[in-house]
Amino acid sequence: MKRNEVLRQIPKIDEVLKEHLFSNAFEKSGRDVVTSMARKVIDGVRAEILALSDDELEHYDVKKLSISYIADEIKDILEADEVNHLHGIINATGTILHTNLGRAPLCEDAVRNVEMVSRGYSNLEYDVKLGNRGSRHDILQELMVELTGAEDVMIVNNNASATMLVLSAMAEGHEVVVSRGELVEIGGAFRIPDIMEQSGATLHEVGTTNKTKPSDYEKAINEKTGALMKVHTSNYKIMGFTEEAELDDLVAIGKEHDIPVIFDMGNGLMVNLADYGLDEPNVPASLGTGIDVILFSGDKLLGGPQAGIIAGKRKFIEKMKKHPLARALRVDKMTFAAMEETLKKYRDTKVAMRDIPVLRMITTTHEVLLERAESLADKIRTSNSKLNVKIVDADDQIGGGSAPMVFLPGVAVAVTSDKTTTKGLERTLRKHEIPVIARIHEDELLFSVRTVLDRELDDIAAALREVE
Ligand SMILES: *Cc1c(COP(=O)(O)O)cnc(C)c1O
Repeated sequence: MKRNEVLRQIPKIDEVLKEHLFSNAFEKSGRDVVTSMARKVIDGVRAEILALSDDELEHYDVKKLSISYIADEIKDILEADEVNHLHGIINATGTILHTNLGRAPLCEDAVRNVEMVSRGYSNLEYDVKLGNRGSRHDILQELMVELTGAEDVMIVNNNASATMLVLSAMAEGHEVVVSRGELVEIGGAFRIPDIMEQSGATLHEVGTTNKTKPSDYEKAINEKTGALMKVHTSNYKIMGFTEEAELDDLVAIGKEHDIPVIFDMGNGLMVNLADYGLDEPNVPASLGTGIDVILFSGDKLLGGPQAGIIAGKRKFIEKMKKHPLARALRVDKMTFAAMEETLKKYRDTKVAMRDIPVLRMITTTHEVLLERAESLADKIRTSNSKLNVKIVDADDQIGGGSAPMVFLPGVAVAVTSDKTTTKGLERTLRKHEIPVIARIHEDELLFSVRTVLDRELDDIAAALREVE
C-alpha cells in the first residue's frame, strides 16, 4: 500500500468524536479538552505512519485506523489525565517524616477544618466583632502564647522563609555569630551561610567544627554584632571529642551584652519525648531559657502543615510583621486552618499523642506494631499464596532531617518471590494504582507498619495480588 493511501484512511476528528461515544467525557471535561486530546492521538498516528520504513508500511495493521480503535485510545488518555500529578501514596518505609513523601500527615480535625475554611469565605483578615479589617497575624497568637509561653508569634511559609525573615529583620547590615559546628545544609540549596548572605547579614564564624565554647561567642562580640545564633544540627551529629554552647549560656551572654539570641531549632517538637529515646530540644523548653527568638518548621515533629513558626519577644516579632518580606512569605487560609486544629491538640499532651499522626507513629507500642504486621502478613498470604511472607524486626526512623541517630525498634512484613526479583516487586508496587513505597533490605521487600494506616493494609495486599 502507498503511504498516501494509508494516511487517507486516518479518520477525521469529527468522525471519531461521535456524540454517543463521548457524551460523558464532553460533559465532564468540556468539548475543547476532549477535542484537543483527540487531535493529539490522531496527529500521533499520522506521525507514526510517516516514520515507518517501506517494509514496515507493508505490514501496517490498518485496523489501528478504525474509528473505534482510535476512540478507545482517546478514552485511555482521558482516563489517565484524571489522575492528578500530586496524589496519595502508601508509606511503608517506616520513616515517619519523609521529605520526599510530603513530611507530616495531618490529623483528621486539621483536614476537616481545611475543607471547611477553603470551601467558602472566612475571616482571614476580617474582625467579625468590629466589622472592619483584621490581621491574619492574630489568628494563632493567643493559642501559641498559651502553649509555648512566647510573647508573640508569627507564621510564614516554611522554616527557610522564617530564617530569611528573622535575619533580615534583626541583623541586616550586622554580624551574626554562629558556631563552625552549626553551619548546616538542610537539603537542596538551604545552607546557613548562603541564607545569611541573602538576608544582608554577615556571618561571623566562631569555634571549630567539633568544639565551640561560650567564650568563643563572647570574644566575637564587637560594635557590628547584630545577633548570636544557634542552629540545631537536625540532620547530623558530631560525635566524640565535642563541645557546644548550651542555649542557656548564649542567653546569658546575650543579656550581658544586650545582643539578641536566635535559635533555629528546626523540628518544632512541642512535647518531651525523652522517654521514647528522642533527646531533642522542644519549643516550650527552648523558650523557657529566656531566648529572644526561636524558629521551627510546622510539618516536622510538630505534625502540622508546611509552615515556619517564629516565636519569641514581642519587640522583634512586631518588627518582622512589618518587614517588606512578611507579605512575600505569608501563608494562606488553608495553612492557618490546619495549624490551628493541630496546635489545639497540644493543650493536652495525651490528646496530642493520640490524634497527631507523627506523634502517634513515634509512640506506637511494639505490641500494636506486631498486631498490625500480623494482620498485613495474613492479608498478603490470602491475596497471593505464591509469595514468601514473614515478620521481621525493622529499624524505623524519624526522618525529614530530624534525629538522624535515633532508630525506633519497628516491625515489618518481609516479602520475597521465587519468580520475581525483589527489585521487580518493589517496582510493581511503586507503579500500582495507589503506589506503595517499600524498601529493600538484604534482598527482601520490607513493609514497615509503623507508617502504614490500618485502612491501607488491604491496599498493600491488593497491590501484591497480581505478582508472580
Ligand atoms: C528543616 C530545617 C530547616 C528548613 O525548614 P523547612 O521548613 O524545610 O524550610 C531549617 N533549619 C533547621 C535546623 C531545620 O531542621
